[in-house]
Amino acid sequence: MALLVIHTGGTIGMVQTDQGFAPSAGVLETAIQAIQSSGDLSDEVEVHAFDPLIDSAQASPNDWAKIAQTIHECYEHFDGFVVTHGTDTLAYTAAALCLALRGVQKPVIVTGAMLPLTVEGTDGTRNLRDALCAATKAPSGVWVQFAGNLLHGGRVRKSHSHAFDAFEAEVVSTPPAVAADAFALARVGDHRVGMVSITPGTCTELIRFAADTCAGIVLRCYGSGTAPDTPALRAALHRAQERQIPVVAVSQCAEGGIRLGTYAAGGILRETGVIDGRDMTPEMAYAKIQFALSQFDNIDSQHDYLTTCQCGEYTAA
Ligand code: ASP
Repeated sequence: MALLVIHTGGTIGMVQTDQGFAPSAGVLETAIQAIQSSGDLSDEVEVHAFDPLIDSAQASPNDWAKIAQTIHECYEHFDGFVVTHGTDTLAYTAAALCLALRGVQKPVIVTGAMLPLTVEGTDGTRNLRDALCAATKAPSGVWVQFAGNLLHGGRVRKSHSHAFDAFEAEVVSTPPAVAADAFALARVGDHRVGMVSITPGTCTELIRFAADTCAGIVLRCYGSGTAPDTPALRAALHRAQERQIPVVAVSQCAEGGIRLGTYAAGGILRETGVIDGRDMTPEMAYAKIQFALSQFDNIDSQHDYLTTCQCGEYTAA
């Protein structure tokens, strides 16, 4: 089998420098050769490395588009794809690739590491080997391979900042890919999307600022979907409605998601046209708004896209 590795950067390919870990060319390629020499992998591997390699803190929707475009261009020549990526924004990229690669019929495996391949005791070798192996046999779609787990790319979250087992995802039966008759790229650009949290004694000016200036908002609400019903918050959400920008509510709880309508205290959200993000991760909600804005120029179509389950990113009612 022939595999393509798209190496974007991240800890996995870093070396120690005076300023801390920083990306370095050649690290990943050397590790892949070692895995091949050990006999653990008999497949052909080609590496396309970002130039420059980046810490994933630098990643933007333009980088999601670049990865997706590379997979699209090389699709016929390879049987599976691995994306090596920094862990900090890996969940955003995995969510975005699920949405970008419509109708993908091959495995796309996103991975990274908590300790560089160049450091003793690294988790990178295991993750890389597992990801390459998954790219030869996992079901079609975008997955995250990390610490021995193969996780749904549209559901994944970084849940620990330094443990090796740093990612979690809800287990669902829907595959991490948008169903489509043929493989096609969904385009994505970099729109002004804000992510704001409701807090006790909410500083509503921030939400108002987002409503006045953003093209879309992820609103992180309490528990099952509640928020304080204050005139200022109502005015801010009405302003977003008046400007016809999508506002998607997600929960601040790591599990369970929101269920708008459970509490009267969620009324303000329903009455101001806020979209029920159910149990989507904030990362997926953010990526999905970027895709909605990139593909549709009116709020009705954006709304339809955002309220349709694309790739198992939320649990259907
Ligand atoms: N800061 C790094 C990055 O996201 C962290 C990592 O890769 O684990 O690129």
